[in-house]
Amino acid sequence: MILKGETVILEKIEKNFAETAVVRDVSIAVQAGEFLSLLGPSGSGKTTLLMMIAGFEAPNRGRISVGTRDITFEAPNKRNVGMVFQRYALFPHMTVAQNIAFPLRMRRCSRAQARDRVDAMLAMVRLEGFADRLPQQLSGGQQQRVAVARALVAEPPVLLMDEPLSALDKKLRETMQLEIKRIQKRLGVTVVYVTHDQEEALTMSDRVAVMADGELMQVGAPIDLYHRPANAFVAGFIGKMN
Ligand code: ADP
Repeated sequence: MILKGETVILEKIEKNFAETAVVRDVSIAVQAGEFLSLLGPSGSGKTTLLMMIAGFEAPNRGRISVGTRDITFEAPNKRNVGMVFQRYALFPHMTVAQNIAFPLRMRRCSRAQARDRVDAMLAMVRLEGFADRLPQQLSGGQQQRVAVARALVAEPPVLLMDEPLSALDKKLRETMQLEIKRIQKRLGVTVVYVTHDQEEALTMSDRVAVMADGELMQVGAPIDLYHRPANAFVAGFIGKMN
């Protein structure tokens, strides 16, 4: 299975909740196949920005496109983006295989095709033999692998992840970071990854977009942010590695 990433272009995105601007004039061009993290403290607008790419929130201003398609106001299920949430959000009454196959239900996909796709995804996330288990019979890391498999089964060119590892302990988090990178490289999918963890953003990303208070402070490769922070906020935030 070879996927191909697509560009994600955000142009002058603004979002208000009631009177408050929580995302202000954000423009970013994510390259096809790039791993870009949105990094910033809690409340800086990262999740809101991701929700606008996913289609669960609409911007008050600006434009979002994937490849050449303007998706600003397209329904979430028409956008062709995969999404992994912070807390796996697996269906508890469905088996692993049923969870992974779920996005294929809406598509024209025969049972045999669906079974092949699920098997391929199980192999990719290294969960062969777990197809018939229920989510509660899996560890946190295994559940998160199922969530990754489900997000990718319909072969979206873009994968969005919202703090997917924050519920895991440090050791498992490191293993899963490597696993996600391995899968992303192999598939060539474009990833937008939300995290408040500097270390995670710097080790996983091609580029990091630093946000504070709804604004984009700087977008750059990890090494550039580290050596040439654009302002005191970026310097302070990137500097406080554990
Ligand atoms: P982050 O992901 O960086 O922690 P969020 O995007 O979740 O930040 O939140 C940014 C700001 O928007 C916060 O002040 C939050 O309280 C506010 N906010 C987020 N979602 C809503 C909502 N549905 N209604 C009102 N305010 C919201």
